[in-house]
Amino acid sequence: MFMPAKPALAQVWHTVKSDHFVVFYQEGECFAQKVADKAERYYQSIAYDIGYPRYSKFWIWENRVKIYLYPDKPDYLRNTSSPEWTEGLADYKNRCIASYVGSESFTENVLPHEIAHLIFRDFVGFENDIPLWLDEGIAQWWTSGNKNRIIQVVAKQLYARDAILSIDDISNFEIPKIRQFRYVEKVRTKDNEPAILILTPEQLINTFYLQSASLVDFMRRRYGQDRFTRFCRELRDGKSIDKAIQSVYGDYFQDLYGLERTWREYLAN
Ligand SMILES: [Zn+2]
Repeated sequence: MFMPAKPALAQVWHTVKSDHFVVFYQEGECFAQKVADKAERYYQSIAYDIGYPRYSKFWIWENRVKIYLYPDKPDYLRNTSSPEWTEGLADYKNRCIASYVGSESFTENVLPHEIAHLIFRDFVGFENDIPLWLDEGIAQWWTSGNKNRIIQVVAKQLYARDAILSIDDISNFEIPKIRQFRYVEKVRTKDNEPAILILTPEQLINTFYLQSASLVDFMRRRYGQDRFTRFCRELRDGKSIDKAIQSVYGDYFQDLYGLERTWREYLAN
């Protein structure tokens, strides 16, 4: 969470507005304009993708998402108290995104990822019990662009090494806050035997993100985009994850565990 800082004395926030976004910047008008254009394009594609109503008024006028661009990286880090390795962050509650002028990694990766989160959360509602892997998987899908093939190659390697986390664990995943421990996870091997997996926090986080992206890519590619959009709509209409799976993917599997089984079969091949 971050509070958009008031600029230091003698600095002011200028703005560039598009239909669904307001970009705040202190210098670097060109970059701010580029961010506004890209954000608008991502919005159109992502909204269409998950079945967000085309003429939703929710994001326009005073509800436009605010994007704060600090003049440079040190300024961004200082004002948002973000970790050194980040290129941007989002505050979903206040519908704010922050980064700094000139970050290509922000426009190409962070921006579509965070817009996907914002749209998906608006669409399905905050009170809905959505598994974290689905939310992250959709956002990752938009971040990784055409890198999905690589994601599946790595997911298959993890599976071959019996290093795949269970669907229960990734549904209730929490980003580790303490970085020096090892994490012990209960998993099942390829032969369906119980086993444990010992991971560093980095390995755990990477595995979680990779599996989330792999599952969403699998659902979309194997069973089609239309079905995936329908699945998101069922969740928005208040169905539980199992009920939504049953009504949309019922020809193939009946619940989350069925999805997990089918996905593991795919990774095995
Ligand atoms: Zn995310």
